[in-house]
Amino acid sequence: MTNKSTPSICAFLILGGFCSFAKAAPFQFSAGVSVNQKELLERDFAFLGSIQFEDRPDSRLKQYLNVGNLNSQAVQDWLKIRVHYIVSPDSRKRLLTQEGQPFVSGIRNAQKVYFPELPSVVEPSGGNTIMFNMGADIYEIAKAEHKPLVLEIEGLENILVLSPRVGIVEFGKAFFQPLDPSWPESRITDRLHTLFRLESLLHEARHSDGNGPSLTFRHQTCPKGHDYEGLPACDAADNGAYGIGAEFLQEVLRVCTDCQESETDLLKILLADDLNRLLTRLGPNDEKEDSPWIQGQTEDPGQVEAADPNTVKPNTVKPNTTIWDPRAEGFKQ
Ligand SMILES: [Zn+2]
Repeated sequence: MTNKSTPSICAFLILGGFCSFAKAAPFQFSAGVSVNQKELLERDFAFLGSIQFEDRPDSRLKQYLNVGNLNSQAVQDWLKIRVHYIVSPDSRKRLLTQEGQPFVSGIRNAQKVYFPELPSVVEPSGGNTIMFNMGADIYEIAKAEHKPLVLEIEGLENILVLSPRVGIVEFGKAFFQPLDPSWPESRITDRLHTLFRLESLLHEARHSDGNGPSLTFRHQTCPKGHDYEGLPACDAADNGAYGIGAEFLQEVLRVCTDCQESETDLLKILLADDLNRLLTRLGPNDEKEDSPWIQGQTEDPGQVEAADPNTVKPNTVKPNTTIWDPRAEGFKQ
């Protein structure tokens, strides 16, 4: 059933057909994000608001996002709770304690090694990471060290990291490049690239979620024989970052009635890449669709794992609540 609850004068997926009434994207930008890049992201976000999703009860995207109705407003809202800052490469400055001192001690020795330690969006191999949820990673360091941390980023006020939902994502070069290097640069403004960036943002947004063992929905090492063997580029849970990306693309393919074959072919390639990273889908064919949740890892939505007994009491979790406990992750005192 097509969702009619959000009337929109925007036709879905008309090239350049971004809603003129759409609200500005809710992101703050670091130094180094160009005017064109900001505009593009504003348009991407507005475009997300124009997609007429089908609000089906069996939609996995709806289930994963835990929204009452699957519509563009709900997806925009889901994203903007989890992504707040868009940070350009090289605009990170320092990691500080709440008292303003460089953060130097502890098991992850973060000031000394923070920048090398966190996955860099510019890889030494010359490859390019698309995007990285820096805020979630810093939150994990802070939690392990029992110290709230402050991140200095050029062009932004200092950010106190108290929750994995601080939503600081850093983009790499590949984020604003054509998917095929032989394509002209101008293609990054087309619908395919908008969908690619939105899928990347939704992926990163999922890393702002999780609780205890599932905190940040950290990727797993891909198994032997996998295209990404040995790399942390797979997910144990279908409702992790790759699963969110995959389900978003599936929903888009479902409703994109005016998509050109060339576009759907490429969206399907992006989709196949996401699905290929879901460890539950790597079994024999007859098992592939049967295990959307990992038992004991990311359990069904009513079974938030009680990771931290100080912050989560399992018997207070209501059925059908999100796998994310809405209370902010706290620091052990
Ligand atoms: Zn990821």
